[in-house]
Amino acid sequence: MQPITYKLNPGRSAFSTYYLDVASFTDDVLVRSRNTVMPIAESYTDFLKESRLEDYRTVEEYVYELLNLGVLWRSYGNTALAVQIAPFSTMAHLGEWRKTHPRLKPAIDFLRGILLSFFLVPIPCRRTDYAPQELADIERLVTWLEATGDFREDAFRYIRLLAYLSMFSAEEFSKTMKTILTFADWFEDESTLRMGGYTPNVDGFVERNLRSYRWRIDRFTCLRSRTEYHLSMIGTEIMNRAHREEFDSCGRKTVLAPGCMRARSERECKGVKSPKGIRCAGCESRCHINQLREMGVRDGFDVMIIPHSADLSQWSAKPGNEPMGVVGVACLSVLVQGGWELKRNNVPAQCVLLNQCGCKSHWHEEGFPTEIDLRALKQIVVPSNPPSLTYPFKIRIF
Ligand code: SF4
Repeated sequence: MQPITYKLNPGRSAFSTYYLDVASFTDDVLVRSRNTVMPIAESYTDFLKESRLEDYRTVEEYVYELLNLGVLWRSYGNTALAVQIAPFSTMAHLGEWRKTHPRLKPAIDFLRGILLSFFLVPIPCRRTDYAPQELADIERLVTWLEATGDFREDAFRYIRLLAYLSMFSAEEFSKTMKTILTFADWFEDESTLRMGGYTPNVDGFVERNLRSYRWRIDRFTCLRSRTEYHLSMIGTEIMNRAHREEFDSCGRKTVLAPGCMRARSERECKGVKSPKGIRCAGCESRCHINQLREMGVRDGFDVMIIPHSADLSQWSAKPGNEPMGVVGVACLSVLVQGGWELKRNNVPAQCVLLNQCGCKSHWHEEGFPTEIDLRALKQIVVPSNPPSLTYPFKIRIF
């Protein structure tokens, strides 16, 4: 079967192909950033240290944020600036409420789907060929990103960056944005060459579904560009490297798996519901979640099934409790945002990608059970499987 958009194991296992390729490509992106955006990332890190606006992260994570900003501007800058009027604040709150009030989710999503297309997409999303002229353009993009709900975590990340950029003269701002966009343009071309073999059907999927997803709440999740897919690949890799040590230090670990990995439908699944998610009851031996559960019993980690829009703050440690290490599993469209949300809630986390997307809610008419590469998971979650030299999870010192 042809992949819907992407596939990490087209022919051979993802462990022996994709995971090696993404590690090598991430290294090369970081090397390339040394004379381009890394100096900006270092200066931004110094600003955060001095201003104490957040517990600063690794400089590689800030390189990723700058690259992400460049790619998002190219993808959505035009559209965000074309919005004349929109209930930005209400829409951002609706994105929050759907997480905190799961029972109201269907009604909220229906309303958001309409508001989103009516207000936030006044013109079709086309590549933005020009650079932002002033800080207000980036502010508008960030406001727009938050209102969509799908880029909420991106928007949270950029609040501090806006404070940093506000100190710049017009000339410095323009030079900085030019550097970021040049790097994003290089990434667009290079990532297609290096990682494009894993994303063969993204463009076709977007083209075919522009109309049918028009009023849907998941239009931005499902209609992402190929470059955004490649960006999420290296984002996942950079976050895993940066947070590996903290995750390894946790005594207890839980894998948060999506329901689309189940062999049975939600109605037929015998899993036991709890406030934090669904615990597999092992009713079907072929079920991918059951395989994870069995691996967890052997290797000492827990497994929970959680919905796509679950509130991840519930995984942060209560005062006095030992933190729980969490492995988030999701498809390329949402995994980085999930990783950022876990980090924002101080949850030591790692991420593992679904080998391809296939759930009924977002991607496929009937849906099919999705899967992950178990060797990739094992290398993360089992302490006796340290990263190998050919699979460097740690940030390299250049
Ligand atoms: S094996 Fe577990 S996750 Fe799979 S359908 Fe049965 S109870 Fe649900």
